[in-house]
Amino acid sequence: MPPFDVPEGDPFGPHNLPYGVFSRSGSDTRTVGVRLGDQVLDAGAAARALASPYASLLSGPTLNPLLAAGRTTWSDVRRALTAWVTVPSHQEAIAPFLHPLSSVTLHLPFEVADYVDFYASENHARNVGRIFRPDAADSLTPNWKHLPIGYHGRSGTVVVSGTDVVRPAGQRRSPSDAVPVFGPSARLDIEAEVGFVVGAPSPMGSPVPLSAFRDHVFGLCLLNDWSARDVQAWEYVPLGPFLGKSFATSVSAWITPLDALDEARVTPPERTHPLLPYLDDATEEPYGYDLRISVAVNGHVVSEPPFSTMYWTAAQQLAHLTVNGASLRTGDLYGSGTVSGPAPDQLGSLLELTWNGRDPLDLPTGKRAFLEDGDEVTLTAWAPGPHGTRVGLGEVSGTVLPAG
Ligand code: MN
Repeated sequence: MPPFDVPEGDPFGPHNLPYGVFSRSGSDTRTVGVRLGDQVLDAGAAARALASPYASLLSGPTLNPLLAAGRTTWSDVRRALTAWVTVPSHQEAIAPFLHPLSSVTLHLPFEVADYVDFYASENHARNVGRIFRPDAADSLTPNWKHLPIGYHGRSGTVVVSGTDVVRPAGQRRSPSDAVPVFGPSARLDIEAEVGFVVGAPSPMGSPVPLSAFRDHVFGLCLLNDWSARDVQAWEYVPLGPFLGKSFATSVSAWITPLDALDEARVTPPERTHPLLPYLDDATEEPYGYDLRISVAVNGHVVSEPPFSTMYWTAAQQLAHLTVNGASLRTGDLYGSGTVSGPAPDQLGSLLELTWNGRDPLDLPTGKRAFLEDGDEVTLTAWAPGPHGTRVGLGEVSGTVLPAG
């Protein structure tokens, strides 16, 4: 039997060990947890019991102290945790600090500093171009192949998986409206994305090159960039998304360290345009990730977007967002952009899946052009792990509540 009763092949086995923050029932105390199968290891308590030097990094109410500690420490802590959950002689010492997942409350795992969202899927960008600019000669804007397009989002409304999302209200104006109207969004959508979590900061004035990506980014999580398409369509020219997206962004409760995803690294799609030196990854190690995402609405899978198809990598996005001298802070979060593959069942938004509402999805719970009140959206994913295993990513789930 594998250690600690984790079934063989469990995507949250000892090869994964994602980090989160939890509290036990009847307690307000939040502390760092590490997921092992269907259990949570109280990492700080385990560290204290084993007299580990990392106890202080693992005992706070957020992951930020661990994130700030830097790459060498991330690897050392992971090595220690791996030993605690695999070496038989530790089993007795660790056992009291394992709690069933079903018995704990999971919280937002880190204090989010800045939040940025990108637009890195060529399939998604072309689909959006075809839907919103049908008369344009090229479905991509002229800058798309030259820089990773992004916008600044709202870090204060990043919420953990399981948090309900109230339908936002705002201005919209359809072609038939003479003047804008105000009311609850009628085109509430999702964007299936991957979020990257910055650990080690960088000073102002020091761009982070592609080669330093792993020195700064600690790990990744699933991310749902909820989007009110009608609000977005009326407000976004010329400065980009604003209130159509800032009402809520959901992230998974588990942050998967990049150290758990080495077997999932892949070369990104072939670059069709020459890149400026700070973005040119032709001679760099591969920074793409083979993550298989699944999107479910009310428990019914509607799409399976492949992250390996993303044109811009997280390393390029980090290099771009610091190339002007902007600093990084511990807890910075950046979204990949909607993940859409080339096939009709690989699209990461309802906007694309229903072609802006023209072709509603036929779900067991009824037809859907966009989300209805009470709908629950859940993103899950896995990646290839060592020796044929799967590395599970924590799910991100949220239910739409009626406008207030
Ligand atoms: Mn987005």
